[in-house]
Amino acid sequence: MTAAPAGPPVPGPTAPGPAVPGPAALVPDEPLLSASGVAVSFPVGSQLTARIRHEERLLRAVDGVDLELRRGEALALVGESGSGKSTLALALAGLVPANRGEIRFDGRVLPARRARADRRRIQMVFQDPYSSLNPRLTVGGMLRELLRVHHVVTRGQVAAVSAELLTRVGLSEADLSAYPRQFSGGQRQRVAIARALALRPDVLVADEPVSALDVSVQATILNLLQDLRNDLGLTLLLISHNLAVVRHLCDRVAVMYLGRIVEVAPTEQIFSDPRHPYTRGLLAAIPRLTESAADDGTPAIAGDPPSPLRIPAGCRFRTRCPMAQPRCEHEDPALVTSPGDPGHLAACHFAFVPVPATAASGPEKKEQP
Ligand code: ADP
Ligand code: MG
Repeated sequence: MTAAPAGPPVPGPTAPGPAVPGPAALVPDEPLLSASGVAVSFPVGSQLTARIRHEERLLRAVDGVDLELRRGEALALVGESGSGKSTLALALAGLVPANRGEIRFDGRVLPARRARADRRRIQMVFQDPYSSLNPRLTVGGMLRELLRVHHVVTRGQVAAVSAELLTRVGLSEADLSAYPRQFSGGQRQRVAIARALALRPDVLVADEPVSALDVSVQATILNLLQDLRNDLGLTLLLISHNLAVVRHLCDRVAVMYLGRIVEVAPTEQIFSDPRHPYTRGLLAAIPRLTESAADDGTPAIAGDPPSPLRIPAGCRFRTRCPMAQPRCEHEDPALVTSPGDPGHLAACHFAFVPVPATAASGPEKKEQP
């Protein structure tokens, strides 16, 4: 952990904001960015094919998401590939429109078409930095253009601020004259992060920022994100399909399945006391990190998730759930708060109550403890 340096006037959040919280520090309970009932669907294929296959023509990538990102926190968004994490991130950043629901920033509902000033405040970093960088511009050229177009700083400050940005992400001023192809994967991701920071966002959404990098480099980028959070007071949404990756960086974890958030809790609680059977299955896939999950005999989840073109009625997880009950076929469980703990939410009929013993005749042989 790095203490906030006394030093350089590096871009920070636009608002002066509260004291910068560290990962263990108290985070004020006020949502900075929130989604309620947000849905994003994509039209796919032809009407005819859809009818023949009894499929919908609308692919429901995000299907009614409620989520709050508190000022200064690092929230992880995890879930299998295809669960809608990237689409949700793009919707939050205003890069794809939501078909339904509301996205609020700092207490204001954001319109479908965002003003430039609003777009600036939520910046994204993607998995593949190369495809998101213009190969014909030097890093300095790219930063100069951004800073000027968005009037982030005066002309006279552009050079100094560009240099500061590179130092901030662990590169050097000399790198301003280099092209993206001259960097390694990890360095390119640093450039992409510098570009996002240039606009002085309040929220940084990092979508699988280390998935394409060598294992040895992954930790250095995650550490950088951690430092930026501490030093600049950034609010971070870190997307990963890997719970282990987010464990040390994030205050809370949101688990996504087939377009919905199915569990949210403080990170340690997700690991020590997971309540949704899907979360338990995800944890069972990494037993060495989770003694409790390894001990309770929960199997890792088998098979692939259903297509978002055919989301099961009732509980969307029931087709893979080891504790599914008859009511799960009809009743879509809402994301509810634990009766004893307002910080823990789950969308399962049995997350906070025992599975009824009499009805315990789910699709699997296993009886619940
Ligand atoms: P994740 O990031 O969790 O892997 P995505 O948000 O990328 O999930 O995708 C969720 C679902 O939406 C997937 O089934 C994917 O194929 C589909 N999808 C994503 N973007 C589009 C698009 N532009 N057009 C059609 N389908 C899409
Ligand atoms: Mg993705």
